[in-house]
Amino acid sequence: MPQEEIRWLRKGACRSSDPDLFFPLAPSPLQEARAKAVCARCPVMAECRSYALRAGETEGIWGGLTPQERRRARFPAGWRDSAAS
Ligand code: SF4
Repeated sequence: MPQEEIRWLRKGACRSSDPDLFFPLAPSPLQEARAKAVCARCPVMAECRSYALRAGETEGIWGGLTPQERRRARFPAGWRDSAAS
């Protein structure tokens, strides 16, 4: 990823967190809730979420969203039908 595009990451609240909290080998509801709590107080959450959705990040918690939540945001129910019409 280009450094220019992720400059905001230097201000991320997760910089002092355990990376396993955001990129766990075995995700769990508790781990996701803890990571989301860090994101909720992050000053660059909007930039992080926007980047992750634009870049199609498939792993980890970005901008307070899980991979499944990002997938739903990018491809909401019925997106195939609306794209075909
Ligand atoms: S929104 Fe979450 S994952 Fe993104 S920089 Fe902030 S704390 Fe880190």
